[in-house]
Amino acid sequence: MTDPKPKRPSKSAHKKRDWLRKYGSKERVEFVTELPCATCDRKPDEVKNQNSHISSGGTGFKSGYLNIIPQCFTCHNEMGNGILTFLRAKDLYPEDLYEMAREIEIAWQNHRERSRNE
Ligand SMILES: [Zn+2]
Repeated sequence: MTDPKPKRPSKSAHKKRDWLRKYGSKERVEFVTELPCATCDRKPDEVKNQNSHISSGGTGFKSGYLNIIPQCFTCHNEMGNGILTFLRAKDLYPEDLYEMAREIEIAWQNHRERSRNE
């Protein structure tokens, strides 16, 4: 009798895991879209703010959800067109973006804590 072949995770399972790695959860994504833009303070009104990754995760990878900040459409596009130009225009350093992403994660954790206690 031959050993059964080890099962590889299916493509769709991998896709799902990758999405969770990049975005955390649907609830987290939704929470972030309701926050003001981290780089210009614009509040989401008819258009929700976006979950913006502040760095790539290496060749061909988006980085994980801990590198997400809320951004309005304009800032998201400007940052995508050239991060250095964008940072200079906003008088920001890369470290500032990481600090913002850290604050978002703390706000999200606090939000979850509050909803658990309700
Ligand atoms: Zn903005």
